[in-house]
Amino acid sequence: MKVTSSVAEVRRERHSGLTSTWGFVPTMGFLHAGHLALVRRAREDNERVAVSIYVNPTQFAPHEDLGSYPRDLDRDLELLRQEGVDLVFTPDDRSIYPPGFQTYVDVETVSKPLEGASRPHHFRGVATVVAKLFNVVQPTRAYFGQKDAQQVVVVKRMVSDLNFPLDLVVCPTVREADGLATSSRNVRLSAAERQAATVLFRALSAAQGEAQRGKRDASSLRRRMEDLVKAEPLARLDYASVADPDTLEELTEVDQRALLSLAVFFGATRLIDNVALDVGESQG
Ligand code: AMP
Repeated sequence: MKVTSSVAEVRRERHSGLTSTWGFVPTMGFLHAGHLALVRRAREDNERVAVSIYVNPTQFAPHEDLGSYPRDLDRDLELLRQEGVDLVFTPDDRSIYPPGFQTYVDVETVSKPLEGASRPHHFRGVATVVAKLFNVVQPTRAYFGQKDAQQVVVVKRMVSDLNFPLDLVVCPTVREADGLATSSRNVRLSAAERQAATVLFRALSAAQGEAQRGKRDASSLRRRMEDLVKAEPLARLDYASVADPDTLEELTEVDQRALLSLAVFFGATRLIDNVALDVGESQG
């Protein structure tokens, strides 16, 4: 497994495997089962696999957790070695944002609601770094987790709008046994907060169940999630959403597909989760 922080070296490696198919998994490191599921899928689908590990400063606001984001490069590299990864790109800030850098990718409308409302410059940072990583690695396929559903919508839009010659593969959310989505940020929870954090999946599942049993009014589904989160003393709700999965606009009525999503604080740690809902089939 080649590990490099050099853009030129990644390009050389890519060039040496020019006729191979390359799967690419961009990450911010501190790898867990969710990341490894993407890597395994990339391993199955492609002849070569590249992973990037980069905590991208432009997707964090000044008050957010860039400085304290968990990192453990040695452990990450060992996990990736065990998965048979060919290339790991670990750039530093200067190689991604050299002095004078001033070009950003702004995916306009779908970046604005949900995460974008709480984190106004987040997706500009995400789209910019993903575009740069795509240009450096030039993958055949890129792998993203449904855990970050809005990120998938934003990156899909960018790939289509800017004609990136690659396929996006979206992989299901990996969860702990009690339903909590695996996340690098979970290690920052105290034992009591970790217990309380199960409320995200409980609330999403409760609303999903109600929709499947016939409740189609989006505001009562939203309220059901809000009430469950508010009943958890260690949780502080940021948002509860029932939105169109493609446009991310809030729905008034669920008549077929919907994205149920939540953002919740536990102390300083902010967690997000979502489930996709399709009630179209049960209506016949
Ligand atoms: P991150 O390191 O948090 O930027 O995540 C890198 C990739 O892993 C993104 O495509 C995430 O959506 C994906 N990912 C993170 N957590 C999970 C999870 N629990 N299940 C599936 N994919 C995940």
